[in-house]
Amino acid sequence: MTAAADRRPTAARQAAGGPAADEDLRALFGQSIAVYASLAGPTHLLETANPAFFAAIGGGDRARTGVPIAELMPELAGQGFTALLDEVYRTGEAYTGRDARVVLGAGTQAREAFFDFTYEPRRDDHGDVTGIRVIGVETTQIKQAQRLLAEHGALLEQIARQAPLGEVLDGMARCIENLTPDVLVSVLLADADGRRLRHGAAPSLPDFYNEAIDGIATGEGVGSCGTAAHRREPVVVTDIATDPFWDDFRELAERAGLAACWSTPILARDGSLLGTFAMYHRGPRVPADTDLALARVFAGTAALAIECHHIEQARLAAEARAEAARAELAMAVRAERELRAEAEQRATAAAELADRLRAAAAAQAARPHPERCQLGGSAGCAAPAEIKIADSWGDSAWGCNAHVEEAILNVRSVFIASEDLGGLAAYLNR
Ligand SMILES: [Zn+2]
Repeated sequence: MTAAADRRPTAARQAAGGPAADEDLRALFGQSIAVYASLAGPTHLLETANPAFFAAIGGGDRARTGVPIAELMPELAGQGFTALLDEVYRTGEAYTGRDARVVLGAGTQAREAFFDFTYEPRRDDHGDVTGIRVIGVETTQIKQAQRLLAEHGALLEQIARQAPLGEVLDGMARCIENLTPDVLVSVLLADADGRRLRHGAAPSLPDFYNEAIDGIATGEGVGSCGTAAHRREPVVVTDIATDPFWDDFRELAERAGLAACWSTPILARDGSLLGTFAMYHRGPRVPADTDLALARVFAGTAALAIECHHIEQARLAAEARAEAARAELAMAVRAERELRAEAEQRATAAAELADRLRAAAAAQAARPHPERCQLGGSAGCAAPAEIKIADSWGDSAWGCNAHVEEAILNVRSVFIASEDLGGLAAYLNR
C-alpha cells in the first residue's frame, strides 16, 4: 500500500475490503471470556463467581454471593437449568451443554444468550458431592457473528449478480435490523457532486421522515448524516434531544420517535462520497465497539453495492451512446452513398451534354450565325455564339456554351438544333 493510500479515511479502506474490514469482522465475534461460578449444597448457594459471570447475568444487584442461584436468577427454573443442577447434585454426574439458549433477566432487561457450559460436581474428601462448579463460555456473539456473516455473504452475492440497488440496500437494512433488534437503519445516497443526500433505503423509518430527509444538504451540523457526509468521518449522536447537530431536525426526529443516530459515511475506493449509513435508536444510546464495527462493515458493503451500480449505469449509458453513434454513422454512410451516386449521375449527364455541345459547335462553326450569344437575358452576354438551340414550337436561338448548357438543363423540350445530330425525320428513316 502506498503512503497516499494510507492517508485515506478508514471507511475508504473499508470499502476496498482491505485488512481493516477483516479486523472489523473479527471484532464482531468478540472475545470469548470464560464465566465461572461455584455453588454449594442442595440449594446451589452461590459461593464465588468471577466478574465475567456477573457481567453475563446482568450485574447490578445480581452481583452478590451467599444466595441460592434460583433466588438470584429466578428465570432459570422455568428454563430447566435448576432441574439440571439438582440432577448433577443428586447423581454426581457432570453435565455439558453446547450452544444452550438461555434468556437472562426478565421484562425489559431480558436478553437472549447462548453458552457452552459444564455443570461439574464438587466433592469432599469422601467423594460425596458438596456442590457444583459452573464453567462456561458465552457464545452469543459468535452465533450472532455467524448469522451476520451468512447474511453478509448473501448480500455480496446479491451485489455480484447485479440485483437492483434499491433491493440490495433494502435487504441490507432489514438484515441489520434483524441482527440487532433495537436498530433502525437508513441509507442515504449522495448526488454526483456530493452536495446533497437522497433517500436510499430505510424500510423501518416512517415515510414522512424519509420524505423530509430526502435531499438534505451535506454540511457541518446538518444532523448526523449531513455532518458525517461533510466530514467523511463517522458522527455519533447519542442523544438527539440535546445535540446541536439536530437543532433543525429535532422536532421531526421526535415525531418519528428517534432518539439517537450514529452515521457512517459510505466512501468509494477513491475516497469520494457515495452516501451515508445510519443506525437509529428509539432511546438515547452510546454505541459499543461492535456497533461501530458493524456500521463500518455495512458501510463498506453499501459502498460496493453503490459503486457496482454506478459502473453498471455508466456501462448502460456508454452502450446507448455507442448505439446512437453506430446508427448515426450508418445514416451518414447511406447518405454519402446516395450523394455520390447522384453526383456521378450528374457528372455523366454533364459530360454527355458537353460532348454533344462540342460536336454541335464543331458542326455549326461553318454556318452563318450571330456573333454574340443571344441567351444572356436582359443582362446580355458578350461571349461568342457557338451553338444553335431550338424547341418543339419552332423557336431557335444561338448561344455561348455556358448559356446553351444552362438552357438545356433548365428548359424542358429545348434541344440542340444541329442538322448533324439528325432529327425526327432521320429517326423515322432509320
Ligand atoms: Zn452566352
